[in-house]
Amino acid sequence: MSSIVAIVGRPNVGKSTFFNRLIQRREAIVDSVSGVTRDRHYGKTDWNGRNFSVIDTGGYVLGSDDVFEAEIDKQVELAIGEADAIIFMVDVETGVTPMDEDVAKLLRKVNKPVFLAVNKVDNSKRLENAVEFYALGLGEYFPIASTNGSGTGELLDALVEALPEDTREEEAELPRFAVVGRPNAGKSSFINALIGEDRYIVTDIAGTTRDSIDTRYNRFGFEFNLVDTAGIRRKSKVKEDLEFYSVMRSVRAIEHCDVCLIVMDATRGFDGQVQNIFWLAQRNRKGIVILVNKWDLLEKETNTMKEYEANIRREMEPFTDVPIVFMSVLTKQRIFKAIETAVEVYNNRSKKIKTSELNEVMLPIIESYPPPAYKGKYVKIKFCMQLPTPQPQFAFFCNLPQYVKDPYKRFLENKLREEFDFTGVPVSVYFRKK
Ligand code: GDP
Ligand code: GDP
Repeated sequence: MSSIVAIVGRPNVGKSTFFNRLIQRREAIVDSVSGVTRDRHYGKTDWNGRNFSVIDTGGYVLGSDDVFEAEIDKQVELAIGEADAIIFMVDVETGVTPMDEDVAKLLRKVNKPVFLAVNKVDNSKRLENAVEFYALGLGEYFPIASTNGSGTGELLDALVEALPEDTREEEAELPRFAVVGRPNAGKSSFINALIGEDRYIVTDIAGTTRDSIDTRYNRFGFEFNLVDTAGIRRKSKVKEDLEFYSVMRSVRAIEHCDVCLIVMDATRGFDGQVQNIFWLAQRNRKGIVILVNKWDLLEKETNTMKEYEANIRREMEPFTDVPIVFMSVLTKQRIFKAIETAVEVYNNRSKKIKTSELNEVMLPIIESYPPPAYKGKYVKIKFCMQLPTPQPQFAFFCNLPQYVKDPYKRFLENKLREEFDFTGVPVSVYFRKK
């Protein structure tokens, strides 16, 4: 299970410069927070073979010093709550400021690894000046320059060393279904409706309880682990923080599941936050089921469901081969259909097509519709196979893999979907030289 690292510090110390260096071209998710704060960013990266997520907690604030301070407190609170390790960034140009001291005071009480990064140490004079940050009482510091990367290697070495070991791998026996979505979509109600009063077996796996609870579900011939992100609520007065916590929990739950049950509120639609979650699930190549909850609340006419579904599919493009279940936890309408569908998606995701069968089906299709010639050269696909990965990936062996373009890849993906049914599952198609 990958860890989360939060970067905190005053505005302008260089947090986003450092974040961008870490994430490089990898996609980051932007959590746009309206009003006083700047966008928060998070993304994934790796160092020395360890994967982890990074949050840049933002912190650009317009307004008075009080607003400023309240904002920093929130940032630190967020980091303390959600992260496994914290990078506290300060700026050698300005030296120790009262606000740095406030943050240090909060961080000294934290029972998590804290790394003090003294940024903008671009020359030897500044390296000397950095010594003053010992005064923060956080021990050893790391002099770095985010703009050119100097010193960041040492910081990251120490950081990944301190991250908790990945824990989840061995007990990945049962299918893992994550119930994710915005606050108030109906996740807890859904889980309660499924397990009823008598929660079957509730396992609190050490180290994971603070962001998700695993509940084993075993009824009606289905057995799986429910990864429940709804059960734990962090108290926060601020609505936007609640949203953010829920997104962070979703990130983790999604990373460690086989199928994501994305619960959305029918009255709110497939909005930006739901799209973020959908996108994350897709990026992580997880199975996906969309559960449109609170269907009881909509005024319905003959085509309401059809139109609603069509609208969602438009938003999902290009990955539209995803089941959508309209349910109401309140009236218990289709809640078992939701589970049935998740099981189907799980089976689709773990499906293994025999090489002989795959070639028997795909080669004639390729023959009647070969890749278009590129620069006068013909691509000949000789055979294909499914790779032994947990999720469906297919390799097509050919003479000139570099000449096969995206539209043809999509064509093959669609044919694979038509012929073998991968509904709800991202499918990867690769071309390799043979
Ligand atoms: P944030 O508000 O903490 O995210 O800070 P930014 O990353 O936006 O950086 C604030 C300013 O500091 C920008 O003008 C950066 O170019 C500059 N900066 C960041 N890192 C360094 C560094 O290592 N050396 C110097 N000299 N400037 C830096
Ligand atoms: P969570 O934050 O996603 O766990 O959402 P909750 O399960 O706490 O539900 C939020 C609110 O929506 C509660 O007041 C529920 O009673 C209500 N709710 C949940 N499912 C439905 C539904 O299918 N129909 C209606 N009308 N309300 C629902």
